[in-house]
Parts: sequence; structure tokens; C-alpha cells
Amino acid sequence: MTTASASERSGWEPVIGLEVHCELRTATKMFCGCRNAFGDEPNTNVCPVCLGLPGSLPVLNRRAVEYAMRIGLALHCQVQPSIFHRKNYFYPDMPKDYQVSQYDEPINVQGFLQLPDGSTVRIERAHMEEDTGKTTHVGGGGRIHEAGHSLVDYNRAGVPLVEIVSAPDLRSSAQARLYAAELRAILVASGASDGRMEEGSMRVDANVSVRPARSDTLGTRCEIKNLNSLRSLGRAIDFEIDRQIALLQAGERVVQQTRHWDEGEGRTVALRSKEEAFDYRYFPEPDLVPVAPDEAWQRQVAEALGPMPAERRQQLARRFGQQGPDSARADQIATVVELDLDPLVHAAADAGVDVSLALARTANEAAADAEAARRVDRDAYRALLQLEQRGSLSATQAKTVLGELLASGGDPAEIARRLGFEALGEDSLAGVVGEVIAANPAEWERYCGGEDKLAGFFTGKVMKATGGKANGKLVAAELQRRRAGS
Ligand code: ADP
Ligand code: MG
Ligand code: ZN
Repeated sequence: MTTASASERSGWEPVIGLEVHCELRTATKMFCGCRNAFGDEPNTNVCPVCLGLPGSLPVLNRRAVEYAMRIGLALHCQVQPSIFHRKNYFYPDMPKDYQVSQYDEPINVQGFLQLPDGSTVRIERAHMEEDTGKTTHVGGGGRIHEAGHSLVDYNRAGVPLVEIVSAPDLRSSAQARLYAAELRAILVASGASDGRMEEGSMRVDANVSVRPARSDTLGTRCEIKNLNSLRSLGRAIDFEIDRQIALLQAGERVVQQTRHWDEGEGRTVALRSKEEAFDYRYFPEPDLVPVAPDEAWQRQVAEALGPMPAERRQQLARRFGQQGPDSARADQIATVVELDLDPLVHAAADAGVDVSLALARTANEAAADAEAARRVDRDAYRALLQLEQRGSLSATQAKTVLGELLASGGDPAEIARRLGFEALGEDSLAGVVGEVIAANPAEWERYCGGEDKLAGFFTGKVMKATGGKANGKLVAAELQRRRAGS
């Protein structure tokens, strides 16, 4: 990550506001019946409406409005009557030459989002609009000015979007990343969007300015486009903060601009000077009526909304009693909630599995293949953890069985048998422990003399002798039993 030295940055405060576009998970587009799908053959999901042919008329997708409300409610916004405007500009990926968007009367206003670090970011608005098509510049480095020609795919034109605009409340790249990650988790939890940055279904623009520390007026901002991962978001903001500080320290000024993040070069470059609202000649869309969800509909949407990530983290944390989870476990909780795997942990813990064990296996092993883990049979998952907890499987064995379970499903006990993970019976375990003690008499004497840390030495030897099949807890118990009796 680019960082100015502390001395260069001190005396300046970065100010960041994010604009996040997310595609809604509707089956069809916003104003027509074309399929809303990522990755289809180009220009196969198109019709006169989304191609903007003369005489075609839009019909608003009710489900898109419902999803927009879900997002607004999840972000504690006020849901209000709204209207659509035409935002006029010419670009080849937008066949109508205008984008239908909400301008001064958006559906959701004045919400907030609470970050895991305890800070609150205000949400100014979360409005509906339609997506554009997608242009691919062919030849050169893929940028428009280097390209030999350009291809355009209108499958994405008219896909419903919600744009979530934060207040300029963020103060560092790390906080901006935290916000984007939390927002993504909320979008996924609401069911309104899949939040996939790599597929472009969540796209982030970052507005960045700097000002003298302790100033309370905002500096001139630049808006950075093309941030398609949390990593790019963080790097681009850091680069931009440094660039602006360097300008101001040299006595120059920041010009308000739209800038492009060049991932390869690791820098932002000027795209165009910032457009003003009047450039777009906004006017109310004459072919659509206002959207005014009534109380009953809003209530229905609110009631169907499950708990959001912050609450789900708390629900898991509560299982750790009064003192709560330590910081490592708090991180694990954040991971499983973000991946929508917390139901697995609850199911196992409800069945009597130690919550720390369930959390660890879920955050460390199951999380590595979250997609499979979300589909795994909960009873099988719980049964596997019980085998480990009871000592029928060692930790290493349990992880191997879990890998199998995620890859191909099945009954954990049967998978364990197939893999030859017969639990080492207590008799044979005792025998191996006896042999290991006999082979290491000096260490045994020291252990009996009170050098507890040698337990690890003996456990290691037993594990080696059994090829990892021994259960660590049972070995420890056997060692203690023998020491007490010696
Ligand atoms: P526009 O309509 O030109 O996009 P907005 O006023 O709606 O401008 O702001 C867009 C985004 O820019 C918001 O996320 C807001 O928080 C952020 N923003 C506005 N002013 C600043 C500033 N001086 N520094 C950083 N971010 C800013
Ligand atoms: Mg904007
Ligand atoms: Zn269409």
C-alpha cells in the first residue's frame, strides 16, 4: 500500500465519501422483461425497451422497488415517495442517450451505517437507476485512446441498480474499506444484491479530499472511478491522499476532477473535469409515474428483512457469555457473518458443540470454500464437529473429513471410516503412551517433577507414533493420569 511518511501526512486530514452502485438480484431488468444475468452471450438479453427504440415504453419492475426498499430499510433510511428523471448524456454503452435515474426525489434518504469499529457513517441517499451497457476497448492496453476498436454489449443496459451515497464521514483508506465491506455484507444479507465486486455487481467510486487538520471546511475533492476490489479501493485512496497533500504543500491547488484508478501503474489519472448537474439536463421522466410505496408494503418489506450483519455478530458474540469473545474470536465471528456461515455455527452450538470449536472450524476451514459450506447439510456438519469434540476424530482428521464433506457431501462417520480414521481406542492409546514414556525416561522424570510444558513433547511423540490418529485431549488426560499414579 502506498503511504506517505507520517511526517508528510501529519497536519492533514483526509475526507472520503463513497458512492456505491449495486446491481439488484431481480430475474428481469428494470423496465422490461429481459433477463438480468451476468456472463450471458453478448447482446442476447435485449429488446426495444432496453435498446431505447422509438415508441417503446418502460414498465417499472415491482421487485426492483422492493429490493431498493430493503436496502433503504437495512440502512435505516427514510423511505419516501420518489420520481424518476432522465439524466442526459451521450455514450455508446447507453443506447437511449439518457439514463433513467432518481435525482432530487430519491426513494431512500437519511440513513446511517454502523461500522464494526464503532463509528457511524451517514447515508445521504440510496436511489434507483438503470445500469448502462458495457464497452470493451480492443487493442492497446484496453483503454479507449489506445484501442483499435470498441465492442458494446447491451445485456447490462437497463439492469436495476441502487446507488448508495455516503456523507463525507470517512477519514482513512482503512475506514473506507471497512465501510465497503460492511455495506457489501448488508447488501448480501438483505438479499437485494449479490455484492460481487469481481463481477461488477458492486462498484465503488471514492470521493477524496484533504484539509488541514482541525479545519471544519471541506477541501476540493476528486472522484476516483473503476475501483473493483477492496484492495484497489484502499490503494487508490492512499495514492490520492498523498497526491493531494503533495500539491497543497507545493502551494498548488487541487482541481475538482473525475480520475481513473490505474491498477497496473498504481496511480490515479485525470479523466475529465467534474461535470455539474446542469450538464445532464435532468428532467422528469414522462413515461413513468411516481413511486410511492404505501405503509403496508413498507411494513411487509421491513418484516421480511432478516437480521443485518451487526446484529448477527452480536447474536454469535452472546454465546460467549458475559465476558464476550476475545479479539481473535471476534474476528472469526466477523468472517463467518460476512460469508453468511453463522447459521452453521448456531446449528452446531444448539446441538451441544462447543461454540469455540464450531466457530474455529467454520471461520478457518469451512470459510475456505464458503459456497460449498453454505450448501452443506447442517446435520452432517454438526455430526462431524461432535465426532471431533468427543475425541473420535483428532483435529487434523476432522479437517480432512470436513474437506471431503464440503467437496462431495455424505455422512462424516462414514467418510472417516473410508479414510481409515478409526479412532484409536483408549486401550491402544494407553499402550502407545506407555511406549513413548519408556523410550524417553529423562523427559518423563522432568515432567513428573513438574515441568508441565513437556506434555507437548510427549503428545508430539504419540502423534508421530500413531500417524496423527491419537486425540490430543485424550493423550493429555492419559499423561496426567500416569503422572498422578507414578
Ligand atoms: P455529486 O452529485 O457531484 O456526485 P454529491 O454532493 O452528491 O456530489 O457527493 C457525492 C459524494 O462525494 C458523496 O459520497 C459525498 O460524501 C462526497 N463528497 C462531497 N464533498 C466531498 C469532499 N469535499 N471530500 C470528500 N468527499 C466529498
Ligand atoms: Mg455522484
Ligand atoms: Zn429489454
